[in-house]
Amino acid sequence: MSDSVKKLRRRDSNLKEWQDGLEQLLASGMEDFEEKLFSFLCDHNGLVSMDRFNNLLEETGLRGTDFRLKETMTKFRAVLERQLHNENELRGLVDKEIFLDCVSDNIVVISKALTSQFVIPEFKPFTDIIDKIFESCKENLLGLPAQYIPQLARGNPKHWGVSICTVDGQRYDLGDTNIPFCLQSVVKPLNYALTLNDLSPDVVHKYVGQEPSGRSFNELTLDYQHKPHNPMINAGAIVISSLLKKGLVIADRFDYAMDELRRLAGQEHVSFNNSVYLSERATADRNFALGYYMRENNCFPPEADLVETLEFYFQLCSIEVTAQSGAVIAATLANGGICPTTGDNVLDPQAVQNTLSLMHSCGMYDYSGQFAFKVGLPAKSGVAGGVLLVIPNVMGIFTWSPPLDQWGNSSRGVQFCEELVENFNFHNYDNLKHTNKKYDPRGRAVESKAQDVVNLLFSAYNGDVTAMRRYALLGMDMSLADYDGRTALHLGAAEGHEPIVRFLVEKCKVNAHLKDRWDFTAYDDAKRFKHDNIAEILADYMKTNPKPADGKSFSSSVQEVNTFMSKLTT
Ligand code: GLU
Repeated sequence: MSDSVKKLRRRDSNLKEWQDGLEQLLASGMEDFEEKLFSFLCDHNGLVSMDRFNNLLEETGLRGTDFRLKETMTKFRAVLERQLHNENELRGLVDKEIFLDCVSDNIVVISKALTSQFVIPEFKPFTDIIDKIFESCKENLLGLPAQYIPQLARGNPKHWGVSICTVDGQRYDLGDTNIPFCLQSVVKPLNYALTLNDLSPDVVHKYVGQEPSGRSFNELTLDYQHKPHNPMINAGAIVISSLLKKGLVIADRFDYAMDELRRLAGQEHVSFNNSVYLSERATADRNFALGYYMRENNCFPPEADLVETLEFYFQLCSIEVTAQSGAVIAATLANGGICPTTGDNVLDPQAVQNTLSLMHSCGMYDYSGQFAFKVGLPAKSGVAGGVLLVIPNVMGIFTWSPPLDQWGNSSRGVQFCEELVENFNFHNYDNLKHTNKKYDPRGRAVESKAQDVVNLLFSAYNGDVTAMRRYALLGMDMSLADYDGRTALHLGAAEGHEPIVRFLVEKCKVNAHLKDRWDFTAYDDAKRFKHDNIAEILADYMKTNPKPADGKSFSSSVQEVNTFMSKLTT
């Protein structure tokens, strides 16, 4: 185990998952990962471009601002600063010593990103589909912003943002993801989770049930035990507001809620909208009616002050997030209560499980049943146009767009969730054995060598050097060939992808003498398809790297297939 990993092991004791990932790599012979990384990235002069390295990380969904990259980015900045003041140094390029020093502190997350250990290893193909869904929802002009208070009625119907944060902290944003808006009812599951975190489920559910009400979210109704049906409708959420940190004075309870929401959001944007709060309080006849009705039915803990509780509920609804910070909150729920971007353990997993269960059955107003049927994922919407969607163990998504449909859910938000599940196998029951196969962007399935060959050759054919680099870092044999003896080098040469050919010969040192079943080398292919520049590179390389001593010139996998076939036929 390298020193840097030992160092990280001591420092980031709560980040075991990432270390486990690296340990698997170490076990498969990746001890000198930093060195390998350098040699894959460096140019002819033995220098690595910091920009290129950052772009590579960004392609995996990691952001330069990620706290897990803090030391690396700080060191890169210091290097750049120094280079700006020193005319003799090449700007933006670093040599091996500096590169290793910069990456060693954060090598755990870097190696995880670059060796496809993130939950969505191929981030780009995934986000390409997200782009399409985003565009298709943008055209949806149905509905109006909530009209019951002027602050929401003034919402811009054009606003549309989608933000994604995976449980590995991979981020993706489209549209209006930086504009604050009120959580409104989206705060309900969060307050419920925070209350469960503090009091046990038994205590909390003495006050509130777990059943869908089958009635409107602000209906004046209780269940047969005279309790609110569930914490996702107003009655239940008001009772939860009376329980949240009930021992503290009200100002401290508000601070507590804000602090905990910030922790859920990885310290990203969480603010308070006072005018929405004042408007909510001024137009709250139904919520006051609910409050008095519930007090009459002994729904509150004895010490609760009704007006204070209602005001606290309005304040909680008036807390603002952006789609970006909301996505981190959703991802914290998806990650069992540990914020993926900070590693902060905010919620007890049991609290998360209970919250997701009720979001699943009651989160989307009177559309909850249909939503559970079509989308099969826990979600919660609010009248300001937010939808918080959780794909457990995978990612959190937050969509925001003010126009609401007839049920009070964001029109574009619901469409997005439905199209998401039409494209990916994220529905809770998409994992049934005999189900239609949809695209699963998660992890590398248990891949056979055959699958490796397909991936490798496909990337070479498409000129995808990033994918090739990842396969190389994963320790894949870059000379693998298909049953026709075609290697990545053959395809790169035939398709005229110079970067692929250079990468394979200069970095991976593949055997360029391998012939396919028609007796062609990659050089022959470059010539046949008139890529003279590539033919030249290959001719030089073959001259300086003669045929390996064992004389193997036919691809190893073709030989393996042949041996296998001959065994079968004898
Ligand atoms: N503040 C709103 C109310 O209590 C919440 C609306 C919502 O998002 O469902 O009426």
